[in-house]
Amino acid sequence: MAKINKILVANRGEIALRILRTAKEMGIKTVAVYSEADRNALHVRYADEAVLLGPPPSAESYLNEDKIIEACKLLSVDAIHPGYGFLSENAHFAKKAEENNIIFIGPSPEAIKIMGDKLAAKKAVANYDIPMVPGTDHALSDYNEAIPIAAEIGYPVLIKASAGGGGKGMRVVNKAEDLEEQMNRAISEATSAFGDGSIFIEKYIESNKHIEVQILGDLHGNTIHLNERECSIQRRHQKVIEEAPSMVISEKQRKEIGEAAINVAKACNYSSAGTVEFIYDKGNFYFLEMNTRLQVEHPVTEYITGIDLVREQINIAEGKTLSINQEDIKINGHSFEVRVYAEDPSNNFMPDVGNLRTYIRPQGPGVRVDDGFEQGMDIPIYYDPMIAKLTVHGQNREEARVRMLRAIDEYEITGIETTLPFCRYVFEHEVFIDGSFDTNFVDKYFTPENLRQLDDDKELVAGIISTVVADKKSSSRSNNNLHENDHSAWRKRLNN
Ligand code: ADP
Ligand code: ADP
Ligand code: MG
Repeated sequence: MAKINKILVANRGEIALRILRTAKEMGIKTVAVYSEADRNALHVRYADEAVLLGPPPSAESYLNEDKIIEACKLLSVDAIHPGYGFLSENAHFAKKAEENNIIFIGPSPEAIKIMGDKLAAKKAVANYDIPMVPGTDHALSDYNEAIPIAAEIGYPVLIKASAGGGGKGMRVVNKAEDLEEQMNRAISEATSAFGDGSIFIEKYIESNKHIEVQILGDLHGNTIHLNERECSIQRRHQKVIEEAPSMVISEKQRKEIGEAAINVAKACNYSSAGTVEFIYDKGNFYFLEMNTRLQVEHPVTEYITGIDLVREQINIAEGKTLSINQEDIKINGHSFEVRVYAEDPSNNFMPDVGNLRTYIRPQGPGVRVDDGFEQGMDIPIYYDPMIAKLTVHGQNREEARVRMLRAIDEYEITGIETTLPFCRYVFEHEVFIDGSFDTNFVDKYFTPENLRQLDDDKELVAGIISTVVADKKSSSRSNNNLHENDHSAWRKRLNN
């Protein structure tokens, strides 16, 4: 067993801070890395030591493998935690760390390599009787080969980049006439985004839910699952709202999908924390891909299971046997997460970076905020526009839902547009409340007018309140100023 005394976190923002916190609780020394854009970032201040990697662009900073390895050697670092994004799913980097006697907190380079490629992943699980979406099992480059295949699968079909991630490189094709153009676009997109133009075709499942299973595996062959998360509220095929457990998964299915996920993990000798993603349609689930890292939405699983996933990852990396059995995993209540992106929901979710003029976090029972910013800071244009994750826990779904609405109302952000008003709209929507929503929620139910409607409702409430305050003022001469202040504070709040 290798004792880890010092960890370097090769990431930034909320996830860097989240990892540093657990390391601190475990008595492990920490090293942060940062780019010139992040000199004042919270993760830099929080860590025991910090190393400047270079200029703001990721390629010159957070993706600079040699610089990061060099920093580890210089500061006698035992292990690297890569977080998500950046180098987290880079098999080459994991190998390089290993070659330099630094523990990579994550699965083996081989497992990363197989699961980082959607086609290789499908091949690897082929012997395990895992349900899969109908589609091609190899990369397509020739349009003439694709025509009969797409016809056989049946339109609409989905073109996907084998190396894809973060919802990028996907194209829906509704009819044969569009196939050639969409294929060419997808190939060039995949080449520029992932340096790999391999694409394949899947049946496009029109109404579906995204269900994924959290996995933990140790280095001794023990693998367990920590139940499912549902992440069906997406824009651009990327998640915005997640919850655990899912309303549509029965106890029996939970066992089935959990076992399928464990088999996917076993197919690549998986160790560490990982996520197996499925698409769910009319009671059936199909394997999509495996993400070989800590997932953005891991806090909802932490809330319902009471397990600190980063702590488990570190213990596993040290060679410890899993301290928990499958039977120990219980579901306690319900949890929701919303991703607070610096994006304008009334303008097609376009990134809206700038200065966080006001930034006041929600607090109180059952509320967790993971973020990496403070009031007055700029959101840099170079990286993912996620500002924060707001996660809540309740004894049941309804309690958690109402708590989320309360927390969203407490959150005060000005200076940039965020996804919060959109999230508020979702949490009040009847199909979200009854569980019948799917991944097309945004297309089906959301228009910018919905947000304006919400604003108008707030104006109305503000109007009522001002009348009440005016009434109070006329009936009581004392505390006049207090009322005035109350009133303006309310207005400010309601109009935000
Ligand atoms: P999750 O699947 O954990 O919910 P996302 O799909 O939103 O998360 O991706 C998590 C982060 O990783 C985002 O910052 C996203 O941009 C990044 N990411 C995911 N896959 C890739 C990839 N293949 N290449 C580059 N960045 C990626
Ligand atoms: P990524 O690597 O970008 O995360 P995924 O394969 O996990 O790609 O798919 C991301 C999202 O795209 C899914 O959550 C789902 O909403 C949608 N999607 C993926 N495959 C299909 C499909 N065959 N039919 C319909 N939607 C799909
Ligand atoms: Mg995915």
